[in-house]
Amino acid sequence: MVDLEGLIAMQMLHDYEPLPPYTDPRSALKLALPALRPAEQISVTESAERNMRVNVSGQWQPFRRDVTPYMVEPTDMIASRTYRGLVFCGPSQSGKTQMLQAALAYTIASDPGRVALFQMTRDAAAEFERNKLSPTVRNSPELRNRLSKGRGADNMYQKIFSGGTMMTLDWPTITKLSSTSIRLVLGTDYDHFPESIDGEGDGYTLMRARARSFLSRGMVVVESSPGAPLTNESWRPQTPHDCPPVKYGVLSLYPQGTRARWYWSCPCCGSEFEPSYSRLVYPDSLDPVEQGEAAQMRCPHCKDTFDHLNKRALNAEGRWLHETDDGKTATLGSGKVRRSDMLSYWLDGTAAAFSSWAELVTQYESAVRKFELTGDEESLKTAMNTGQAQPYQPRGSTSEMEVTLQGLKDKANGNRTPKGTAPDWSRYITVEVDVQRTYFSVGVTAWGEHGQHQPIDRFEMNTPPAGAPGAVGPGERGRTITPFDVAEDWQVLVELEEMEWPVEGTEYALRPLALSVDQQGGGATTDNAYAFYRGRKRAGQAGQKGRWFITRGRSGKDLPDRVWLKAPESASGKRRVAKDVLTLNMATDRLKDAVATSLRLTEQGQNFCGIPLWMEEATLLELTSERRTAKGWEKRPGMVRNESFDHLVMARAKHIWLKAERIDWASPPAWATLDDANPMARFLGPKKQEEPETAQTPTPMRSSSARKDAAAGWIVPRENWL
Ligand SMILES: [Zn+2]
Repeated sequence: MVDLEGLIAMQMLHDYEPLPPYTDPRSALKLALPALRPAEQISVTESAERNMRVNVSGQWQPFRRDVTPYMVEPTDMIASRTYRGLVFCGPSQSGKTQMLQAALAYTIASDPGRVALFQMTRDAAAEFERNKLSPTVRNSPELRNRLSKGRGADNMYQKIFSGGTMMTLDWPTITKLSSTSIRLVLGTDYDHFPESIDGEGDGYTLMRARARSFLSRGMVVVESSPGAPLTNESWRPQTPHDCPPVKYGVLSLYPQGTRARWYWSCPCCGSEFEPSYSRLVYPDSLDPVEQGEAAQMRCPHCKDTFDHLNKRALNAEGRWLHETDDGKTATLGSGKVRRSDMLSYWLDGTAAAFSSWAELVTQYESAVRKFELTGDEESLKTAMNTGQAQPYQPRGSTSEMEVTLQGLKDKANGNRTPKGTAPDWSRYITVEVDVQRTYFSVGVTAWGEHGQHQPIDRFEMNTPPAGAPGAVGPGERGRTITPFDVAEDWQVLVELEEMEWPVEGTEYALRPLALSVDQQGGGATTDNAYAFYRGRKRAGQAGQKGRWFITRGRSGKDLPDRVWLKAPESASGKRRVAKDVLTLNMATDRLKDAVATSLRLTEQGQNFCGIPLWMEEATLLELTSERRTAKGWEKRPGMVRNESFDHLVMARAKHIWLKAERIDWASPPAWATLDDANPMARFLGPKKQEEPETAQTPTPMRSSSARKDAAAGWIVPRENWL
């Protein structure tokens, strides 16, 4: 009796490998025989050791289970008929992707059938084929010899092997996850799959549906480092291997399974415990590299410490313990493991074969320092997720870390720098423009050493510039500005370039080093922004080295950087490509994390954001208008305006783009000094003044008057504006 799978395999042979004419039917039968044979009685790792070669520092050698002993049980369980699913959460250097390659080799050589490997994107699938799968097949004679020669047998996304294995390399789309029956469905980098596949549900559930018709022979395996953020900071474990709540990814599946963790026996006292990053101890010395070199693991039982050189031996003797139904732990073979049709494994980074404790500690401690220096959490998240295999809680999302109105008021207490004046520590100024329906909202930020900064002005521009359609003369009531619609209205922003703000307690005033306006808004905002940018470029004020930027916020996970300068996408549909325009793209979630951190800091220092007393409650409320959720930053219900928050995000983007984070303050560039060398600084004192008629007293100068002065220069009175 030929089973369903055999029929599929026969069908495939029929479809893809037409027999050459005049073939002896016996040789055709021989070719098809492996498909009819029952699965070889061999484990997945045995099969991989026998048939798969792996690249070890440029040498192709037979796969060996003792390199990653913790992968043996999960890898072998892929062939289990008791379980229908397997989830593996682990760090990036653990060999967990090789588990899937071993499963592919096993399928090809020992248990032919339909297998699919899903990567997060089409590109990732192609890259896996090119860099991992093809070289492995090419260099493993047992696999290579089974690769069919017929037309269509060795494509990038589909390969056919004699014996009846059809393998596809896929990526998660609803089309790919809702049609064919697949016996073994594998997913790698699962936490980078979309949370919901084309709105139809999570990847794992859809993958399970594909394998359903194979009954107990069907199996779904997903592996990943944790990527989903923690959603509840006050979570405490309820069971030995309980797992904190996350919204998606491998750790959202883990609690539904058997909840296995990897255990070592302490080399000092012999007691069993879970190796984990939290059990590493190292001195609080200043240098992350030294900290890494000194790292030791502390046994929770005898409190003795031991070093990384023990890891290999401990892994060789280690074992997985799963949870039982009554809240204890047991081996899989004990028969007491909690009831579930899914096996779940979670390996800590400290047990990973291919990374050392020194690397993990140096990576983490460097990331902590980078976070303190820049407010950027991405390296910290990476260190936690792919280094330690732990979920990360974004700093902005914890309730005790929230930016609150009271916190801001407390900060403002005693900060008496008046509106329109920069604090005495100021070195350069950025100007930020948010585009609204009937006005431009302007924020001005002063920056000092080491990222210290403070909002120093805030006003709206709502009168059309002279020359704009419908503009009227001074003293007359005309229309208000409409930046979404009227391109000429944007010319009002030009005067911002020459505005200046006195620096408190000094004889200098500063003009803006960099200015930005957002290109997103209603109506023709984007086109108007491009037109404005082109005009400023012609005037020498925009472009690669210019002062003006047009900004665009980007959300989502896999962004290339915090900020990047790029011409608009050509594939964005109807809009014409604007190659002459460079947009400053901003990864808004990361920038907002950093802005929120700066707002929370209470002591002057690195990245501290000062709040001046002049800021009104309504403006302060704008700074609390958004909150961090697991998905990213979202407006709080009922909060309408968030301009001052947006201003700080834009200010931060320019600060990063200007490489101001990396200034060596022992010898700063001229634009970050407060003296005559700074092209943006103007000396206000009487002695050095070359043109006495413009000399001014160093009394604080309100920006509104400065604006009027600057504007007066280019407003050309029209003849008949009476
Ligand atoms: Zn011990």
